[in-house]
Formats: sequence, C-alpha cells, structure tokens
Amino acid sequence: MPAEEARRLLTSLPGVGEKTADVILVNMGKPAFPVDTHITRVAQRWGIGRRYGEISSWFMRRLPPERYLEVHLKLIQFGRDYCRAKSPRCRECPVRDICPWPGKR
Ligand code: SF4
Repeated sequence: MPAEEARRLLTSLPGVGEKTADVILVNMGKPAFPVDTHITRVAQRWGIGRRYGEISSWFMRRLPPERYLEVHLKLIQFGRDYCRAKSPRCRECPVRDICPWPGKR
C-alpha cells in the first residue's frame, strides 16, 4: 500500500493522529517523518516552523527517505540532551554556532 494511502487509513482510526501514523509508517520503512514534542521545540528554535506538517515536510524535502528514521531518533535525543525545554545546554551544544535562536545562552 502506498504511504499516503496507509497514512489516510491509519489516521481514520479512533485515537490515531498524524504523529502516531507517521511513527508506524517510518518503522515499517515507509517515507514518513514523525514530529514529537522535542523535534517541534528544536524546529521552532531553528526557525523551521511551528506546525506538524511544515516541520515534517521540511525534513522530508532535505533528507533521503532511508535516513528519516535515523534523523528522527537523533533529533529526539538531541532535544533531550541539549536543546531541552527548560535550561537548554547552549554552551555545550554542537550546533551552537549556526543556531539562529535569539534566546540561546
Ligand atoms: S544552541 Fe541552544 S537553542 Fe540552539 S540548538 Fe543548541 S541547545 Fe538548542
């Protein structure tokens, strides 16, 4: 089944939103880029966007599909380890020099 058709089917189920559908799809090797709370925060600070769809499609346009799951998982870990909601570790952050967030410390 094509990814978009599978996504429509999954999101038609009760309690299944776009993030849950995308997590299922990407773990089945389908082209999808799930966006969780950590990725949303990082994306907002990097000026990528605020809404689920714009963040997800931003990464999908720039990455080869075989790297979607890997980058999704690494961004979650990055958000947990460095770009935390409260007290982000900007001083030790590996992308500090290119981060555009005006609130970085
Ligand atoms: S410099 Fe700070 S705000 Fe920017 S990505 Fe790193 S931890 Fe996040």
